[in-house]
Amino acid sequence: MAIRNIIQEGDLVLTKKCRAVEKFDDRLFELLDDMKETLIQSGGVGLAAPQVGVLKRAVVILVGDKPVEFINPKIIKTSGHQQSVEGCLSCPNIWGITNRPMNATIEALDRNGNTFTMDGEGLLAKAFCHECDHLDGILFTKYIIKYVNPADMKERR
Ligand code: ZN
Repeated sequence: MAIRNIIQEGDLVLTKKCRAVEKFDDRLFELLDDMKETLIQSGGVGLAAPQVGVLKRAVVILVGDKPVEFINPKIIKTSGHQQSVEGCLSCPNIWGITNRPMNATIEALDRNGNTFTMDGEGLLAKAFCHECDHLDGILFTKYIIKYVNPADMKERR
């Protein structure tokens, strides 16, 4: 496993739509393992493949304190609203209050190609939405309703 470089806002890679994963091979497993290690090392909550320069539909998200892999994920249900502070590993100096659903259900494949769904509430729902957006080239800044001074922020991204 290896730590990968996290691409920063301004790089066009972060604006691209990613391709669905079709091959569940060693190359994919290496990417996922590296993403998990990079996420843990960065102190973030989630990481999408385009953030490490790979235009594939794969993300890793901390569920509790365990990184979980979501391949070809999609949000299949949302409900409620939350307004809370959000950040992104690709935008280290930008923090803002965003509008997000309070609850979100994600459907994805695991590395064996099996479909599963997971319900998220609060921070996890926000992470599901944030990471899936990365796969369509959308950054969280789109949802900011009020910027927060980065100097005041110690919260995790
Ligand atoms: Zn992000």
